[in-house]
Amino acid sequence: MSTDFSWIRPESHGIHIVPADCWVDPSRAVAKALVTHGHADHARGGHGQTVATPETLAIMKLRYATSDGAMPVAYGETIKLPGGVDATYIPAGHVLGSAQILLEHAGERVVVTGDYKRRADPTCPPFEATPCDIFVTEATFGLPLFTHPPIEGEMAKLLERLAAHPERCVLVGAYALGKAQRVIAELRRAGHRDPIYLHGALEKMCRLYEEHGVGLGELRLVADHTKEDMRGAVVMCPPSALNDRWRRRLPEPITAMASGWMRVRQRARQRNVELPLVISDHADWSELTRTIREVDAYENWITHGREDALLRWCQLHQRRARALALVGYEDEDD
Ligand SMILES: [Zn+2]
Ligand SMILES: [Zn+2]
Repeated sequence: MSTDFSWIRPESHGIHIVPADCWVDPSRAVAKALVTHGHADHARGGHGQTVATPETLAIMKLRYATSDGAMPVAYGETIKLPGGVDATYIPAGHVLGSAQILLEHAGERVVVTGDYKRRADPTCPPFEATPCDIFVTEATFGLPLFTHPPIEGEMAKLLERLAAHPERCVLVGAYALGKAQRVIAELRRAGHRDPIYLHGALEKMCRLYEEHGVGLGELRLVADHTKEDMRGAVVMCPPSALNDRWRRRLPEPITAMASGWMRVRQRARQRNVELPLVISDHADWSELTRTIREVDAYENWITHGREDALLRWCQLHQRRARALALVGYEDEDD
């Protein structure tokens, strides 16, 4: 029986579950991968077998056009891996299908969060804090300056700007997986019933969300409509299209972007964003530290972002911690 956590090993291209010879979110193709969610820095094509929630598998199929060796695991379900390792998928509250993975072996518990947030999100079930011995946490917004404001305020800003300019449209840049659908769902929650117009690159993922029970209201494709149709409307596009020639077909767009990075003024300026919306699918600083307190692990492994500040916070609060040097975790989403 191991008592030193030697059965779980952080390597440069992922977290290795040694007795099962499986990897969590590996950055290169492996025989057997446990995948937390569909963002490109966690989910890659080409694995022999991919264990993930049905929603994540559907997202991977859409993005990588491959579904070889797909093994679905529902939230709360525990599967047996070789070498006496149990794996349980627990909601991470990040995007549709996102999971933390609880790994248990010889009485020891390791939780790998993948990406997570603590705020309510109408598009996925909420994060569940899970006590464990080793807590592997992301740290995308792991600096005290990152405090995400309540989303209701950001939605109100968007809707006020829209109402003030009925002859124009508000063009919102948002990542294709997760952020775009969350913004649309939050607009609906705020009472916005008008059709929302989509850049073609967002269509399939929005449909996939709807097929999995996330209502997004009436969506229309920009390509099927005239400038006149879109006056006074919200138009959604991927961030890459914000400053693209494509926007010429829109009626005097007011440029908005939904991202946790909009907290940094320079990032908004770089993209010529007039209306920055600070909306993130990651935990902010206070949520990262609260979560570390709640799961109360013997040791915290910090990865995927600003490891240093969170590492120092752990040391100051007498919590064991180490930074992992995983490669290939450039953030796709925020
Ligand atoms: Zn992610
Ligand atoms: Zn990520």
